[in-house]
Amino acid sequence: MIQLDEKLEPAFDEVVRRNAGELEFHQAVREVLESLGRVIAKRPEYADDALIERICEPERQIIFRVPWVDDQGRVQINRGFRVQFNSALGPYKGGIRFHPSVNVGIIKFLGFEQTFKNALSGMPIGGGKGGSDFNPRGRSNGEIMRFCQSFMTELHRHLGEHTDVPAGDIGVGGREIGYMFGQYKRLTNRFEAGVFTGKGLLYGGSCARTEATGYGNTYFVQSMLAMRGQSFDGKKCVVSGAGNVAIYTMEKIQSFGGTIVACSDSNGYVVDENGIDLALVKEIKEVRRERISEYARMKGAGAHYIEKGSIWDVPCDVAMPSATQNELTGRDARMLVKNGAVAVGEGANMPSTSEAIRIFQDAGVMFAPGKAANAGGVATSALEMQQNASRDSWTFEQTEARLASIMRGIHDRCATTADEYGAPGDYVLGANIAGFIRVAESMRALGVI
Ligand code: NDP
Repeated sequence: MIQLDEKLEPAFDEVVRRNAGELEFHQAVREVLESLGRVIAKRPEYADDALIERICEPERQIIFRVPWVDDQGRVQINRGFRVQFNSALGPYKGGIRFHPSVNVGIIKFLGFEQTFKNALSGMPIGGGKGGSDFNPRGRSNGEIMRFCQSFMTELHRHLGEHTDVPAGDIGVGGREIGYMFGQYKRLTNRFEAGVFTGKGLLYGGSCARTEATGYGNTYFVQSMLAMRGQSFDGKKCVVSGAGNVAIYTMEKIQSFGGTIVACSDSNGYVVDENGIDLALVKEIKEVRRERISEYARMKGAGAHYIEKGSIWDVPCDVAMPSATQNELTGRDARMLVKNGAVAVGEGANMPSTSEAIRIFQDAGVMFAPGKAANAGGVATSALEMQQNASRDSWTFEQTEARLASIMRGIHDRCATTADEYGAPGDYVLGANIAGFIRVAESMRALGVI
């Protein structure tokens, strides 16, 4: 662990005391504060007026009961959350996650990360995150719809296009957003398209939003590789997960000439010596909604399914963790380094443990942290809000061109900031400092609120 600056240590101790047991939140805060010592040394005024303490405390946290009726007529209860973390730069913006592991600490860590990511994107959006411990796996379409409607029946009063604008995340894709937006529209009697992003194209969605996080991460890593005169062409890549982020990361890498050798879900991973057949993954995950083990069964020769185990044991040049937090441990990082990986691009939020990040950096592996590399999703959400506000819709090409240029901008901002603060090539430091400065400047301008 890096020693914290003496002005930052008390702020971190207070976060731990006040949010007891919320380990992911402590981890996310610690990682940002570890980067800020150099900023406070240069600009001590950023530690005035309890700015650091305020930035670590969410503006508002909402926890609510979500009752719904399953297909057997039984009443089920879940817990809903929305953490409205920071609105210094714009309305709260961040996804909604449905997964049994969701609790207030997970949502808080995601909201905290989101605040800096959104700042880094250069768009006028604040940070927030929400979700529920509802497990969508194995639920019928009717159950998903009733759950989404009940969730929104409470949450709608806290949202608004100028207040808080959710999107998808784990377990929440186009179908769920449709059901939630439908219920919001019904309850408010307003077609307020800008209140949700990730909407379907027929009712106000943006082209390329579905692809944006995965494509964006690939663009970021492409820029990072280019700094060392390399590219994806001919590289072997491993992408964890088989959801929204993973699928479109694989698609973009393939278009850049890379080969995907493995992908996964929470039960296990598949290795395909001939390169993953993405059309088959899409069919299994997006259409049939089945497990990734089906891939090996349907593909036959050359494809293997490994239950459990670590996908990071598969040798590769580039690793793109795109499933969930802390999925890539110190042990996994050592294995990737041993197998000669040159770059890591985080599609998921905080997928690498702190130990894993240190191992990559010490070994000279180029490392793109999620809050920079996966910002393409939220940036394209902001483009969706722009289109909604002007009642316009852009073409796929136009939107993707904006995304590519935003990702180049984020990459360059991280790289330049890292140089400026004496740590060239340290994208973690560059992302944390560049994101922090935007939020801090805005908070200072707005006064103690
Ligand atoms: P999806 O629900 O579409 O896919 C998630 C994938 O990760 C699934 O394959 C899932 O497998 C796997 N997964 C989930 N939890 C675990 C776990 N505990 N262990 C192993 N595998 C797991 O979600 P997204 O693709 O949207 O999100 C993936 C990550 O990217 C998350 O960290 C999210 O916060 C982040 N992200 C997403 C953005 C977006 O635009 N969607 C934007 C920025 C970041 P299974 O089906 O078995 O659960």
